Amino acid sequence: MPQQKVSLLKGIIHHKCPRCRKGNIYTHSNWNYLKATSMYKNCSHCGLQYEVEPGFFWGAMYIAYALITALFVGALIIFFFFIDKGLEVLIYFISSYLLVILLLVPFILRYSRTLMLYAFGGIKYEPALSGD
Ligand SMILES: [Zn+2]
Repeated sequence: MPQQKVSLLKGIIHHKCPRCRKGNIYTHSNWNYLKATSMYKNCSHCGLQYEVEPGFFWGAMYIAYALITALFVGALIIFFFFIDKGLEVLIYFISSYLLVILLLVPFILRYSRTLMLYAFGGIKYEPALSGD
């Protein structure tokens, strides 16, 4: 039976192991706010150790910072080009933005760690490992 390849994007979106794209990286679902960043030490499918070196995921902070900044710049562009109605509305808009970011924190942290692992983990996709 031919191996079914899993795309890079699908692997990142579903937080799958970067080597086999079968095993889960996180122990809980996206919606569990308290344990959002709780990770498995190893892939349940191929045994890959996720923390490539001690403190590897500290770098994910920079990715999270970049994601939050990009969302903020995007929100400001939307405000100034489509909404612009003065300072009061801007303050309202920024407070709403901060609330949205607070709600998105678990997602941002998870995706920044997953992106860190895919981009800087030095791990190659091995479709042969994704078989059952
Ligand atoms: Zn794996």
